[in-house]
Amino acid sequence: MSDCIFCKIAAGEIPATLVYEDDAVIAFDDISPQAPVHTLVVPRTHGRTLADFDAGALGAIFSAVPRVAQVKGVAESGYRVIINNGPDANQTVQHLHVHVMGGREMAHGMVAFIEE
Ligand code: 5GP
Ligand code: ZN
Repeated sequence: MSDCIFCKIAAGEIPATLVYEDDAVIAFDDISPQAPVHTLVVPRTHGRTLADFDAGALGAIFSAVPRVAQVKGVAESGYRVIINNGPDANQTVQHLHVHVMGGREMAHGMVAFIEE
């Protein structure tokens, strides 16, 4: 998609700090990290949400996650994997991506709701 920032990064048109890449995905550090390690795993093919990818594509995306963790040095210490999928999850970039976050012990729980 021509106006999609993650498609542009995957095409090399916008710079990013590359962590890992294979035929299916590109992984790069988040521009605004919310943890000492905060890397995004992004399918090369454009799709907005999980529902836009078949099982094979999803398998390739998730298979990349432990490889990214290895490269970033958090495979043993652990990491949190987050997908903000759609409006209520506050997805801000409309190209599916997996957040891989670690490097520091986190609090238990993972959901924060907007106050009513
Ligand atoms: P979302 O809120 O959609 O789950 O996450 C989007 C993420 O993409 C955010 O954490 C944001 O910091 C990151 N992001 C947005 N634009 C760019 C960019 O141009 N480069 C990189 N590396 N990360 C970006
Ligand atoms: Zn895209």
